[in-house]
Amino acid sequence: MKITVMTHQTNDKVKAICQKLNELCQEDGFIWDDQMPDVVITIGGDGSMLSAFHRYRDQLDRIRFLGVHTGHLGFYTDYTVDQVDELISDLRQDHGEEVTYPLLEVSLHYEDKQLSPHHFLALNEATIKRITGTFICDVYINRYLFESFRGDGLCVSTPSGSTGVNKSIGGAVLHPSHSAIQLTEYASLNNRVFRTLSSPLVLGIEDQITFKPKNCDRLLVTYDHLAMKANQIEEMTCRVAKERIRFVSYRHMPFWKRVSQAFIGDFSKDLDSE
Ligand code: NAD
Repeated sequence: MKITVMTHQTNDKVKAICQKLNELCQEDGFIWDDQMPDVVITIGGDGSMLSAFHRYRDQLDRIRFLGVHTGHLGFYTDYTVDQVDELISDLRQDHGEEVTYPLLEVSLHYEDKQLSPHHFLALNEATIKRITGTFICDVYINRYLFESFRGDGLCVSTPSGSTGVNKSIGGAVLHPSHSAIQLTEYASLNNRVFRTLSSPLVLGIEDQITFKPKNCDRLLVTYDHLAMKANQIEEMTCRVAKERIRFVSYRHMPFWKRVSQAFIGDFSKDLDSE
């Protein structure tokens, strides 16, 4: 198995984990390879996983990801820094265990046809806003004009990203077993001219959302932790991607348990243990 580590941190605990994983690579069957790894181990939080996803986005069909969290429970991390011996033991007994989650595919088409369209994937979400001033945009679903939006911006999230900024702006939390995307609004203004549904929409694998901005200057498009200023966007389309992200699932915490522990607290217990 070829493994590599991605982390933004350099403290002693992180160095000790890297040392142990390095020692593992002295054993038969393990190789340290950051060009074409089979398993990418992130150390940090969800941000480290997002960075790793974008670093290896061209190899999603063969790479599995695994997260070690150094702080509080993350949504893409399964081991604590104190469980690294268990992690190494699990890696030694690997049988290719994995769980896959849906991703969001985004395309940007520009008014200036000299500019090539820009395509990217997101693990959490993509958003479109205006840097200053109100964002105005027609929203099409499957090329049908669904609504005219006026407000701060729009967000399209994946199921695993639904607990991120999507939740903070009123979106539903969606189990990643659903191959779906969710559209949520940042502060829509509703009047007789501009009218939106004003509730989150969950769209399926056959659906495509298209945003056609009415005022195309000073736009900001974000995807996960990344952002780009973009002018003259003719349209931005979002759909469930063909690609999926694969996570090592030796000790994958059930999604609803993770949501409960992250947002409600640690007091919950299993019915079966009562
Ligand atoms: P960041 O890296 O500082 O992360 C902000 C917080 O969002 C962290 O606590 C992180 O653990 C958490 N987070 C990331 N992905 C999550 C997920 N899928 N479910 C639940 N929590 C998650 O922020 P950034 O680099 O600006 O953006 C990275 C991601 O953080 C974004 O994709 C966005 O989903 C999330 N975020 C959320 C909010 C919010 O809830 N208001 C604000 C900013 C960013």
